[in-house]
Amino acid sequence: MQVFLLHTGQVPIRARRFRHFQNRAAMKQVPQPMSDSLHIAIVGGGAAGVFAAIACAEALGARGRVTIFEAGPKPLAKVRISGGGRCNVTNARTDPRDLVAHYPRGGRELLGPFHRFGPRETIAWFESRGVPLVTQPDLCLFPASDDSATVIDCLLSAARDAGITLRTGCGVKRIDHNGARFCLALATGEIATADRVLLATGGAKGLDLAAALGHHIEPPVPSLFTFRVADPRCTHLAGIVVPEAVANVPGTRLQGAGPLLFTHEGLSGPAILRLSAWGARELAACGYRFTCALNFLPPLTTPAVAEKLNALRTTHGRKQLHTWSPLGLPQRLWEQLVSASGARPGVAWAETPATIVQSLARLATASEFPVSGKAVNREEFVTCGGVSLREVDFRTMESRLRPGLFFAGEVLDIDGLTGGFNFQAAWTTGWHAGTAMAR
Ligand SMILES: Cc1cc2nc3c(=O)[nH]c(=O)nc-3n(C[C@H](O)[C@H](O)[C@H](O)COP(=O)(O)OP(=O)(O)OC[C@H]3O[C@@H](n4cnc5c(N)ncnc54)[C@H](O)[C@@H]3O)c2cc1C
Repeated sequence: MQVFLLHTGQVPIRARRFRHFQNRAAMKQVPQPMSDSLHIAIVGGGAAGVFAAIACAEALGARGRVTIFEAGPKPLAKVRISGGGRCNVTNARTDPRDLVAHYPRGGRELLGPFHRFGPRETIAWFESRGVPLVTQPDLCLFPASDDSATVIDCLLSAARDAGITLRTGCGVKRIDHNGARFCLALATGEIATADRVLLATGGAKGLDLAAALGHHIEPPVPSLFTFRVADPRCTHLAGIVVPEAVANVPGTRLQGAGPLLFTHEGLSGPAILRLSAWGARELAACGYRFTCALNFLPPLTTPAVAEKLNALRTTHGRKQLHTWSPLGLPQRLWEQLVSASGARPGVAWAETPATIVQSLARLATASEFPVSGKAVNREEFVTCGGVSLREVDFRTMESRLRPGLFFAGEVLDIDGLTGGFNFQAAWTTGWHAGTAMAR
């Protein structure tokens, strides 16, 4: 009988392989490998690793077997907490060219893979396995159950059915490659061997494994964070949402558009998260100290807003500046802008000097806030950086430097905006790696 995992002393440890699955009545027997069968090791039991393992095991059949080594006590830990416990599985933008515009890093490389396995295939994959997905008005897809546990149960059940061995609490500390086979040193002190290895260790962890195998690593920095702003305007406006705003960093081309939220800590909402993602590297380089300018009335520019406000001096001359928000901005925000403009309390539009109108227009379209740091977005954050994409063949996700080594998920220098794009990258790269490893 062939065994996959051996102690350093060459003692078979088959009995331990089912650490995670062993008590599940529904578990299928793991198929016994043929003596010349392929051994596939998946390092990391997150979304990318588990999805790749399933694709690989289903394509391999009895020609080999797949083992997932997961450092943590449970697989799919991030899937569980994702989307506030609901798991934003993917996005309804199914056109690959539209989809790749939502990846600050990796979009160009993902274009081909999305043509072969994109959101359409992801939706079909989950729905054919009994997980219907519901599309929200913002094009995010969630399981109809509104519970990430449904997604986890589906993945683990597919993994069981495919005969995958899942070893939890079993981190991989080192990987050696002798040109033909890989040797994995496990945290348990065991050594495992494999013909092919997938690195799916997520954002910042596991990058040393890739580096030790000769890969260049783009330094990891956070993406999708909110801005800390110590400014009384934020505290005063906390809780206010501007439905459509543009945030940018003056002097750069960085910007993010979408809803904006004032918080007690500073600035948040999709406009800020998008800016943080596109500017992840530049903002890290300046120590998260920069000026953020906000246009509360896009696509209007300062002169266009000034023109509209000037017209009010004749059309609504008797109305007071403070008490009426004329351009659809939240009243509390409008009052704050009027106060900041230097307008005299109680002044009517007809009496408002042109300098005040000009100042109001500038504040509504280019208010500046001093950012003094980043805060974590509790809903979702990902890592910018990882294994350099130049060194990976995106038709197969195989290393261009080391045949037999594959990558999937956030370990790569790929990250998306919020909206299910990060899981979609994990499913897509996982599926490609899994099917290629089975060839
Ligand atoms: C709070 C939160 C909410 C999110 N919500 C969403 C969402 O709704 N939609 C969305 O698209 N994205 C979301 N994301 C992002 C998404 O979770 C990640 O992009 C995705 O999980 C990446 O999958 P992965 O498999 O590459 O990495 P991970 O999910 O991080 O999995 C990597 C696994 O590898 C294991 N590992 C690491 N090193 C080793 C080692 N040496 N040996 C063995 N195992 C190892 C880790 O323990 C981990 O289990 C969210 C992220 C967070 C933090």
